[in-house]
Amino acid sequence: MTDKTFGAYVALGSNIEPDENIRRGLALLREVRDTRLVAESSRYRTAPWGIETQPDFINLVVALSTGLTPLELLEATQEIERRLARRRDLKNGPRTIDLDILLYDGQMLDEDDLKIPHPGLLIRDFMLVPLIEIAPEAMHPVRGLPVRALTEEIRYRQILERLPSEDEHQGCG
Ligand code: AMP
Repeated sequence: MTDKTFGAYVALGSNIEPDENIRRGLALLREVRDTRLVAESSRYRTAPWGIETQPDFINLVVALSTGLTPLELLEATQEIERRLARRRDLKNGPRTIDLDILLYDGQMLDEDDLKIPHPGLLIRDFMLVPLIEIAPEAMHPVRGLPVRALTEEIRYRQILERLPSEDEHQGCG
C-alpha cells in the first residue's frame, strides 16, 4: 500500500450466474494494487431495470481503502468487467458484472467518463440501501449530509429481498 489511502465505495451487480460472478468480481477487487477491501454489505436480490424480462440481479456495495486515484480505480473496475467478459451489446441488458464507483473520499468529479458521486446513488435503492448498511455516516459531498439522511429521493425501488449472509444461514441452522 502507498502511504496515503482514500475511502471509496463501489457497487457490484450481476444477473448472469450472479453468485459465481460476484464471487469472482470480489476476488479480482481484492487483487487490485494498493487497494484493500474493508467492508462488504449484504447481498440484495433486485428486480431488473430497463429490460424487465431478464433475470433478477444480485447487488451489493463494498468499502475500499485505496491508494489509487479515482481514474485509476475506474480503470481497475473496468478491467474486472472486461475480465469477466461483460457484454455491452445490449443497453440495460443482462450483465455478468457491473462495477460502479459510488463515492470517493468525499470528492466530486464531473468528467466525461467518471462522475462522483455516482449519478444513480440517491435514486436507486440497490445502490443507496447497501451503502447505508455499511457506511451510514459516509458524507454525500454534494448534499453535505450523511447518506443515511438521503433516502427520500429514491425513485427506483427494485430491492426484492436482502439475502441472509453465510453467518445468518448458520445461525438459523
Ligand atoms: P454502465 O454501463 O452503467 O456500467 O456505465 C459505464 C460507463 O459509465 C463507463 O463508460 C464509465 O466511464 C461511466 N461512468 C461515469 N461515472 C461512473 C462511476 N462513478 N462509476 C463507474 N462508471 C462510471
